[in-house]
Amino acid sequence: MSTSHDIKYKCPYCGRDFTITVYDSVNAQSDPDLRERSLSGDLFRHSCPHCKTDFMIQNPLVYSDPEKKFLIWLSNEEATDALASLAKPLDQQGYTLRRCGTIQEFTEKIQIFEDGVSDIVAELAKYDSFIEFIDSRNGNPADVTSVEYQKTEDGVMKINVRTDDKGLSFLIPTAMLEEEIRAQSDRYEAENTSFPRINSDWLISLFTESDGQA
Ligand SMILES: [Zn+2]
Repeated sequence: MSTSHDIKYKCPYCGRDFTITVYDSVNAQSDPDLRERSLSGDLFRHSCPHCKTDFMIQNPLVYSDPEKKFLIWLSNEEATDALASLAKPLDQQGYTLRRCGTIQEFTEKIQIFEDGVSDIVAELAKYDSFIEFIDSRNGNPADVTSVEYQKTEDGVMKINVRTDDKGLSFLIPTAMLEEEIRAQSDRYEAENTSFPRINSDWLISLFTESDGQA
């Protein structure tokens, strides 16, 4: 079951008050429409009834998919005690547990897990695509506005590297990356029960840490 509550909100544009509904938890299985709105990010989009301006509000949210066995905690803060106490039993049931700090990370993470692939593989694929863009296409790192996971089909991950004026897609076979992760499982270990934040910063921190020790 999903849960929500209403809050009084002051429009950042016209300053008038109105009531919005924010979700505290979404269960993808029992509420397929909320699953869809989470995946698209529309769940966080609100519209002021007075001045009609649309804007995004990121509120803390627990998103769970019991069928695909993952739970994502959307929050800028570390997991609360209440959530941490859930971690162990969920981990034992085979859930992948993650924290996301932004709506963009959150929607991408749902897509990755729904495609049945590892987000660690996805982060490696995004990193490789970025490097490929810089090295062999003479791209300028400063021009890259985002590196996004798109989909995985038949063991091939599609990654989009975007700049202001164009986007390039890269097709990355996942088997090679899975092998790389297996071969260096210590490096790529993520402690599930601590709701790790697996994103590009996390991946880069792994490389930086090991460089420092070398
Ligand atoms: Zn307004």
